[in-house]
Parts: sequence; C-alpha cells; structure tokens
Amino acid sequence: MHNKMLYWILLSIALGILGGIFFPEQILSVRWMGTLFINLLKLIALPLIFSSLISAITSIGNTQRLGSIGTYTIIYVLVNVSFAVVIGLILLNTFKPGVGLPPDLILANAGAGGGPAPTKALDFSSFLLSLFPPNIIAAAANFEIMPIVFFSIVFSIACISIGETAKPVVQLFNGLRDIFIKMIIWLMYLTPIGLFSLLGSAIAEASLQKKLLTSVGGMLFFILIFLIGLALQWLLQLAVVVFMLRRKPKEFIQHAASPMLTAFVTSSSIATLPVTLISAKQQHISDEVARFVLPFSTTINLAGTAMYEAVSALFFCQILGIHLSILAQLGVFLTSIVAGMGATGIPEGGLVTMVMVLRSVNVPTSALVLLLPFDRILDRLRTMVNVWGCLVCAATVDHFTAKKRNNELKELNAIASRS
Ligand code: ASP
Repeated sequence: MHNKMLYWILLSIALGILGGIFFPEQILSVRWMGTLFINLLKLIALPLIFSSLISAITSIGNTQRLGSIGTYTIIYVLVNVSFAVVIGLILLNTFKPGVGLPPDLILANAGAGGGPAPTKALDFSSFLLSLFPPNIIAAAANFEIMPIVFFSIVFSIACISIGETAKPVVQLFNGLRDIFIKMIIWLMYLTPIGLFSLLGSAIAEASLQKKLLTSVGGMLFFILIFLIGLALQWLLQLAVVVFMLRRKPKEFIQHAASPMLTAFVTSSSIATLPVTLISAKQQHISDEVARFVLPFSTTINLAGTAMYEAVSALFFCQILGIHLSILAQLGVFLTSIVAGMGATGIPEGGLVTMVMVLRSVNVPTSALVLLLPFDRILDRLRTMVNVWGCLVCAATVDHFTAKKRNNELKELNAIASRS
C-alpha cells in the first residue's frame, strides 16, 4: 500500500500542475479540499503530541528498577536530538536556501486552515511567561506547543509519583496515542487529494506559474542541504561508535544495515523495531538495555525528524522574509525537539507535528504545500537516521551501564578481600 501511495502522490502532483495551468477555475473551486486536509492535520497534531509525550514519559516510571538505564537514555536522547537540530540550524543559517524564493506559493493558500498567528514581541520574560500560561485549554486552542509540553511533563511526573492509582489514566493515554496513530495512518491516505488541491490552486493563480520553476530549484537546494545535515548527523553517531564505544565501525554498520533498510522501506521507526531488536542482539547489546532503550528511543529519539522540523521552519521563514532572532531560533530549537518527539516513529508523523512548529514562528500551515511533494522520500531517509540513532543510543547506554556495573563489582570485590 505504501508504494502504491507513492504513485498516487506522483499522479496528484502531475494532475495538480496540469489542472492549475489548464483548468484554473475548476481547480480553485476545489481549493476547499486542501483546506480540509490541512485542518485535519492540525486537528490531530496536538492530541498526538500530548498523548505520545505522556505515554513515553510515564513508561520510564514503569521501569524504575532500571534507574541508571533510564537516566542514561534520557541524557543521550536529549543530547543527540539537540545536536541534530543545531546542525540543521547552522546549515540553514549558513546557506539560506529560502532567501530570494517567491513567497507566493505559500501565500496563495495562506487562508487554508487558518493564517499565521499574530506576531508577539519575543523577549526573554515574555518567552518564559508564554511557557506557563494561566489557561492550558486556551493555550491548546491557540496551538502553543511549549505550554502543552511542560504541562505533559509535570502531568506525567505526577502520574509516576502517584503510582497505582494513576495506572488507569496512563493506560488511557497509551490507548489514546494508539488511536491517534491509527487516525494519522487514515489521514495519510488523503495526502494525494490535499496535495492535488493545494498545489493546483497555488499554480492556478496565473502569476505563480513562472515562479513554480524557481521554487522547484530552491526546494531541491533545500533538500540537498537537509540531506547533508542528515549525513552529518549519521557521521556524528558513527564517531560515537568509534571513539566513545571503541567498536569496530564496519561490524556495527553491517549489523545496522538491515534495520536501516527496513526503516527506508516502512518509513516507520516503530514498524522497524523488531528488526532493530535483532540487530541489537547481533551487536551484543544486553537484553535488559535493548528491551527498554529501543522501544523508548524509537518513539522519542527521532533526531532526523527533529532536524527536519527545524530546517523546514527556518526555510519557510527565509522564503517569507521573517527574520528570526537568536531567541526566536531558540524557540524553534525547543519546539522542533518536541515536535520530533511527538512524531512517535510513524510514517509522516513529523509532517503532522510540524504544524505546531510552523505556528510557533507565525508561518501559515499552507507552507506545507512545498514539502508535500517530497515528503514521502524525505521521510524514508530521516527514518533511516532515526533508527540508526536508536541503535547507537542502545549501544551507548549499554556501554556505560556495563562500565558502571563492572566498577560496582570491583568495589564489592575490593571490600570483600579487605574484610
Ligand atoms: N517516519 C519517521 C519515523 O518513523 C517520523 C517522521 O519523521 O515522520 O521515524
């Protein structure tokens, strides 16, 4: 089905372009389909992030006995994902692929699913205050991602500390997450229709036809930069394998090859999990570590996705001429990390959660029209980097926890021999 979808996407691109050029009026009359598609994306993004964060964080509580494994994993995930986002931000700030591109393709559909949020002054105190609004429902209605995240974290910690009584609530959120994932899978079947309508109506605005070519060139440059970013992230992880874990790179890559290929084929870190677990066994990662670290990091250690969120947001800002100060880029950094975590390792989860990142920088959601034609293939590639990152994460946690265990054993032996 996934491969068939690729053909549908290609067909919808062709029909959108041809329809936009030869039947502009008819295409404009079905613009509502694109609006509907974007509305559905926005509808599902927030509940997905909310439920997936809560079920990921509370899963740590269930494995309290794994204390140090959990701590090492969280530290690793945060560092890894942060590096990925920083690499993306540096590349985009250096090469500025969006500068000079016509904003018209984005603005043509800017009314689709709501325009940009009103601009707010971003100084440090208002940034901090915006993280803790007095009304969480109002914040959710306004698509403010960071208050939702802070709320989810505190909520999850409260669930963990309450323990048994909170179990039904945690189960409810696990169930909700799975339900939202199912809904996204259904929604993705509508991508060709949304793409056809959004692309077609952008092109139907007669003035945009010539600008389309410039946009394609610009998009390809942007994609190239994103791929360089992914490659750098992959190499960074390899450096961890070689210099920190002192493992043989050839062997590690050989064993990682089959999960990475599966990731490419399925576009899903979660669907790849069984193959990743087998690979971890081949890499001699202990079962105890693999069984906790891999499922956990498969849902939140999505470095390729987080990078994608950040570079796309910056790219659109460059196209629209929105200047982002350092503080505003810090906001992009944080929201991208969260949106990456919220994407939960499913096909195109990152595209869905991107609406939150776009909202945070006042970019209309219609900007996704530029990404939609390429997202299928980009998804496969970023999923490969995500899965690779999860394996390296498991190997690293295994390395440090084994070291800790050995040191503790040595100390015990030393005490025993002294007495
Ligand atoms: N498909 C990605 C994954 O499963 C998530 C995304 O970037 O959409 O890792």
